[in-house]
Amino acid sequence: MPVPSITLLPGDGIGPEIAAAAGKLLDAIGDYEISEGLIGGISIDENGVALTDETLENCRGSDAVLLCAVGGPKWDTTDPDAPRPEQGLLGLRSGLGLFANLRPVRPFRALLDASPLKRDRIEGTDLLVVRELTGGIYFGETGRSGDRAFDECAYTVEEVERITRIAFESARYRDGKPKPRVTSVDKANVLETSRLWRETVSRLAADAPDIDVEHLLVDNTAMQLVSRPTDFDVILTENLFGDILSDEAAMLTGSLGMLPSASLGADGPGLFEPVHGSAPDIAGTGQANPLATFLSVSLMLRFGLDQGEKADQIESAVEETLDAGFRTPDLATGADGESAVGTDEMTREVISRIT
Ligand code: NAD
Repeated sequence: MPVPSITLLPGDGIGPEIAAAAGKLLDAIGDYEISEGLIGGISIDENGVALTDETLENCRGSDAVLLCAVGGPKWDTTDPDAPRPEQGLLGLRSGLGLFANLRPVRPFRALLDASPLKRDRIEGTDLLVVRELTGGIYFGETGRSGDRAFDECAYTVEEVERITRIAFESARYRDGKPKPRVTSVDKANVLETSRLWRETVSRLAADAPDIDVEHLLVDNTAMQLVSRPTDFDVILTENLFGDILSDEAAMLTGSLGMLPSASLGADGPGLFEPVHGSAPDIAGTGQANPLATFLSVSLMLRFGLDQGEKADQIESAVEETLDAGFRTPDLATGADGESAVGTDEMTREVISRIT
């Protein structure tokens, strides 16, 4: 078996700190050929663009890509012609043909009280947000004329079909659900793209009698996610709605610092990254929570490198570390038995539990 190759893109803010932690975890769990590249603000500083062709080529040539976070106040601008860190992320997603973003949300038992929602609301939550990633308003025509600005939102039937198939497949392979359920989220009462979305999902649902498919408006979904999160199984939605709903779902776990994601295409390497941003407010303090990145490494091993057993080992080690009371400051509630630790100690604790 050749050694799997991973491109590691630390990015900005806390990115380099959690990338270093992920490197240690990978060293502890297996043999990988890791090469680093620049993305986001640091790439703008060095190269004038958020993603160079060379970095994209390196990513294309590897088996999987692990990205930490991009952005920060240094590169914030309203000048439409200035390069922006997020362009690196969008360029990578479209350059690798990654049209499906999967975000599992399953609160860890030790963190049930760290959620802003009551324990009895979130206990038992186990959902997956499947977000379309390369269409919709983030990729439409955009511009300004005089005092007017516009962002076009467009979807094709084919784009909706391929993400719907991923959602149906993911629903079929999730554990512990009596009958898989997919909730397709749109704004079909207002938007034409949403009506096309709903028609297409309904047509594919007719050929998938083993799955319960329901449709929900996005505003209603935002409410239901906090009032009855345990009722959801797979949430299928378009790019902008998925961006917002998955951050809302993130809070069910108690912290953005706990949420991993996987982005997949038809073939080629997948992209694995924590959901959170570059957390400039805590960058350089050694307090960043590395667990979302560790769980992204786990997704990478499972979906990107076909190493499910090692992925399980990481998830168990994270669960045991939390059970033992270790918390980074974003997770700490001050409860008895908890000990607030920084990035390095949390990393050591998780690695010490890798069997
Ligand atoms: P953020 O996710 O960076 O931070 C939100 C809050 O969560 C902050 O208080 C932060 O300290 C905390 N937080 C986030 N990750 C954490 C971690 N691992 N450990 C501990 N605490 C953590 O979101 P933001 O503040 O809205 O954005 C900051 C920058 O990140 C912006 O430039 C934004 O554009 C960028 N961003 C990047 C991505 C990405 O790279 N995928 C995603 C979202 C935002």
